[in-house]
Amino acid sequence: MPTNTPTLQEKFVPPSLDLPWEQDIIALRRDFHTHPELGYEEVRTAGIVAERLRALGLEVRTGVADTGVIGLLRGGKSGPTILVRADMDALPVAEANAWEWKSSTHGKMHACGHDAHMATALTVARLLAQEKEDLAGTIKFMFQPAEEGLGGAKRMIEEGLLDDPRPDYALALHVWSDVEVGKVALKTGPVMACADAFTARIVGKGGHGAIPQQTIDPVVIASQIVLALQTTISRSIDPLQPAVVTVGKVWAGSAFNVIPGEAHLEGTVRSFDEGIRTLLERRCREIVEELPKAFGAKGEFHYERGYPATVNNPQVTEMVQRAIVNELGEDSVIEFTPTMGAEDMSLVLQQVPGCYFFVGGRNPVIDAVYPHHHPQFNIDEKALGIGVRAMIAAVKECLKQ
Ligand SMILES: [Zn+2]
Ligand SMILES: [Zn+2]
Repeated sequence: MPTNTPTLQEKFVPPSLDLPWEQDIIALRRDFHTHPELGYEEVRTAGIVAERLRALGLEVRTGVADTGVIGLLRGGKSGPTILVRADMDALPVAEANAWEWKSSTHGKMHACGHDAHMATALTVARLLAQEKEDLAGTIKFMFQPAEEGLGGAKRMIEEGLLDDPRPDYALALHVWSDVEVGKVALKTGPVMACADAFTARIVGKGGHGAIPQQTIDPVVIASQIVLALQTTISRSIDPLQPAVVTVGKVWAGSAFNVIPGEAHLEGTVRSFDEGIRTLLERRCREIVEELPKAFGAKGEFHYERGYPATVNNPQVTEMVQRAIVNELGEDSVIEFTPTMGAEDMSLVLQQVPGCYFFVGGRNPVIDAVYPHHHPQFNIDEKALGIGVRAMIAAVKECLKQ
């Protein structure tokens, strides 16, 4: 039976923003979406970014941290330097959407929205370049590789990102699946967590599963460690402070009736505060190294610090918020609920006062409801135009300072 119910594809019409660049930004985002590239492999992506920035008359530096691109837009008048950042990498996720513009590479997908960030930043560059002569200051565009865990921002900083000219303010946005399209969410202070990783090895003594008295069973000890690690959150830190310890990987043994010689754990530790971060590292170490001793076993612990917490500067956030309210209206701006996810823009924000804000992409009507990194992740593309307007308003406000 034919029905009049539109398919999801039909419902997904490009938004009309009545802006001259709207079709271009959508085409750009969809092109990036169709051609996802993983961290440090963004060769095609960076090529398009560099070519576009050059065509706009920006000074372009390529090959920063392998595939990163820096574009400098020097305004006609003197003023501060504002860094605007977009990330370029996709994820090793097999896309489960059926859009015409879905990933053409199986097993790779822009499942976090970095395609939208690039399209937005390139459009911001395009619109600001049109009024270059009137701009009082410099805009430094940072297109970074490898945000998803591989540390692209750190390498770009090591390769001179923040030098000559040194940014006075830093801005970035992320499309956000938990925020309704049409809204922009901001918050001063920490918005994303630090993300650390640990491994633990418990060395006991293996033997026959039926003769435990001749062994030191590392599986039983590892099980107690998993539970004891949770007490770091419930007993060692202030209950009003957010933090999480997750053991995501447990492995030991090779047969059901053999007590193995070792057991291994791997996990992640996240919080918003450096003091809590240090405390959790110490408590996890004590548990893994000391608890096995009570059983005659040995515990080895290795802790690796990942991205720090992403912390928004209060003055800059207030400025940006004011600018976005002026541009989009009071109703469009909401307070962001911090997330335990992590982000390496945090490293830039440790050195340059700035604001990292979130542009709503959620719309149940077109099924844009899946979380970031999900195989069906998608955004309402109205977020692109809203992101451009919000970012330009923020840049102009910073230029006034
Ligand atoms: Zn992500
Ligand atoms: Zn992301």
